[in-house]
Parts: sequence; structure tokens; C-alpha cells
Amino acid sequence: MIVESSLNPKQATLRDTVLAGDYFMKVVKAGQTVRILDLEGNQAADTLFYNANDPAERYSAIDTIREQGNVYLTAGSKLLSDQGNVMLEIVADTCGRHDTVGGACATESNTVRYSIDKKCMHACRDSWLLAVAENDHFGLTKRDITHNINFFMNVPITEEGGLTFADGISGAGKYVEMKAHQDVIVLISNCPQLNNPCNAYNPTPIEVLVWE
Ligand SMILES: [Zn+2]
Repeated sequence: MIVESSLNPKQATLRDTVLAGDYFMKVVKAGQTVRILDLEGNQAADTLFYNANDPAERYSAIDTIREQGNVYLTAGSKLLSDQGNVMLEIVADTCGRHDTVGGACATESNTVRYSIDKKCMHACRDSWLLAVAENDHFGLTKRDITHNINFFMNVPITEEGGLTFADGISGAGKYVEMKAHQDVIVLISNCPQLNNPCNAYNPTPIEVLVWE
């Protein structure tokens, strides 16, 4: 569902550019709004959320899909934790569909999906591991890396129940915006993926904006 935002980027209190292959890891407070902006189009923002006050509570794809009765995320989707609480709600979306089933790229999956010589290529899972290591004040470790949202990724589910990685439906300047219902740690890997044709083999920067 396409819903445009009325927020003015000039009034954002935080505006970070995140290069492909880099991560974003910051707390967004309850009541604040966070926007992820696909600057050049068809970029994947592989995202995890944790309750900043109790990181043992975290985003759950399973609970979110079950409660909304839809495998895709868009405006109106409430992003639930593994304890059934609303962490964030998607309040604006100019892309229209986001995936939470396909998972993140990892060096292991790259070797299975593409070829053995992709083993050394940088992957989203590496970026998350680097993020939790460089931000150990959050108390997260490798064991806390869990299932995620792929903002801007188009992963249609076939009638047989399989997954297909289709060409992106996002484009330059499209965004998704969420209002936080609790203080959340937002951990985004801006995907460095060079193997998947969905981004035309050209990973590009994203922007993260926060409003009070
Ligand atoms: Zn990735």
C-alpha cells in the first residue's frame, strides 16, 4: 500500500548516509519516526530490531506474519516482537512491499546460491557481526543475530510455497517510514550483495532519517 509521508527531511534530527557494505546501529526512541530512504533504487536494507531496554526482546517475522495474515510488509504493518508487542508500525511507504521471509545474505549462503569462490565476499551477516562487536555496550553478540526484514526487497512467494528473488519494485527516492512504539535498537546492514541481479550488481547508499 502506497502511503506518502508528510514529514519534512529538513526537520529530521538525524540524517545518516549508509554506504553499501556498511551498517547503521542506533537507538530510536518510542514516539520517534525513522525513515529508510532508497537513494538510487533497488537497494536492500537488511534490518533487525531489538528492545533497547531489554534486547532479549526482538523483532519476530513469525509473529508479525501470523498476526497480520500477510507475508509482505507495507504501510499499516505492525512489526511485532517475539513477545507479541508492537515494536514499530510502518506509517508511510512509497515502495509498497518489503520482504521478511528471504533472510539475509551470508558468506555460507552465497557459496550455496552462487559459487564457492564467493566465500570471501562481504555479506550482510558480516556487517551485523561487526556492528554488535563495535557496539558492545548494547550487550548483543553473535547469538542475537536472528531473522530480519529486507526493506525494498521483492521476494514473491510462489503458489507452490517457494521463494523467488524477483527484480526490485523499489526505485530512486522511495522510502519506508516507521513510528517506534518502544525504544528500539535499529540495526541495518546496507547490503553489499554483488551476486544477486535484483540490484543490477550495483549496491548503492541508503539514508536513515529520524524525526522527534
Ligand atoms: Zn545482504
